[in-house]
Amino acid sequence: MAVHDSFSQQLCALLKEGSLQGEEPLSQHTTFQIGGPAQWLVTPCAEDEVLGVAALCHQEGMPLHVLGSGSNVLVADEGVRGVVLKLAEGFAEVTLGEDGCIQAQAGAANEHIAAVAQQAGLAGFEFASGIPGTIGGAAVMNAGAYGGQLSDVAQWVRCLTPKGEVRRISAEEAHWGYRQSLMMEEGYLVLEVGLNLTPDDPAAIQERMDDLRQRREEKQPLDMPSAGSTFKRPEGHFAGKLIQDAGMQGCRIGGAQVSSKHAGFIVNCGGATAQDVRQLIQAVQERVRTDAGILLEPEVRQWGFPPASRVCPNLSSAS
Ligand SMILES: Cc1cc2nc3c(=O)[nH]c(=O)nc-3n(C[C@H](O)[C@H](O)[C@H](O)COP(=O)(O)OP(=O)(O)OC[C@H]3O[C@@H](n4cnc5c(N)ncnc54)[C@H](O)[C@@H]3O)c2cc1C
Repeated sequence: MAVHDSFSQQLCALLKEGSLQGEEPLSQHTTFQIGGPAQWLVTPCAEDEVLGVAALCHQEGMPLHVLGSGSNVLVADEGVRGVVLKLAEGFAEVTLGEDGCIQAQAGAANEHIAAVAQQAGLAGFEFASGIPGTIGGAAVMNAGAYGGQLSDVAQWVRCLTPKGEVRRISAEEAHWGYRQSLMMEEGYLVLEVGLNLTPDDPAAIQERMDDLRQRREEKQPLDMPSAGSTFKRPEGHFAGKLIQDAGMQGCRIGGAQVSSKHAGFIVNCGGATAQDVRQLIQAVQERVRTDAGILLEPEVRQWGFPPASRVCPNLSSAS
């Protein structure tokens, strides 16, 4: 306990007042609205705070988890030990540069960056306007939608490496692939992203953003808590179609359900636990593997769970 008290005092010394919370429920910081407490939740406002907290965790051997908007994370019901560093609203400066460049701190919301780009008459980021995360999360996940992905428009990413170096990584070095990146592989913390966009008519950009928003609203269960697509798209297939064909649409375990609007989403119908979602993920995987011979790989990042174990889910069909 004394060790923890001294650690939290050291954390406090690095941060502005109000930036540290102990035993903070992560259900309040994830779009699934699921997850137990973070031992310490830190919401920094400046880069020196981010660097200081990361260095302290490294020095003290304390686990460090980086969170953006929590729109692609499933946190265990038991929560996570160590520090959760939430890079969101307080670390979200967006700067318009010369020649179509935008620089954004990691916590800037995609939606906000898209609005800045649209007003400046810069095209190319429309695809991300409806992705409910931060640019830091988008860089790590190589977030994409409707034919666009972050790697199409990112010029560089400034990162903190696990060795404590701040490095500016070029697009070529970033190893972006489908929902993967060097930052994910190597555990780099994204501090800032540089985008290179193309001049265009603001009204035309707005029209494309409106069209994409409408398509999302028609197809996706945006009125229910979720983490978006639960599974990655297997090559040559759509996860949602495979799940539908396997008869899993609407299936439910506890408060978690395969969305009846879009089978690629698992939604929290109210009171879902992380264990409900995990069991439903496994049930879907098993059914699709039996039905189509394809193993669906989760896209959602899972925090605080022991290595996967076999379960016998108590599965019920939707009424
Ligand atoms: C309704 C809905 C629709 C969605 N639609 C899409 C879509 O169309 N396309 C798509 O790709 N995704 C989609 N998603 C998923 C999600 O929004 C994206 O993956 C998004 O990029 C995650 O960003 P985030 O800030 O929420 O990251 P988080 O969910 O907070 O984190 C995701 C991962 O990135 C890491 N991370 C976050 N920030 C940093 C950082 N600064 N440095 C290092 N690591 C970091 C975390 O540790 C974690 O491993 C959707 C989600 C929802 C809820």
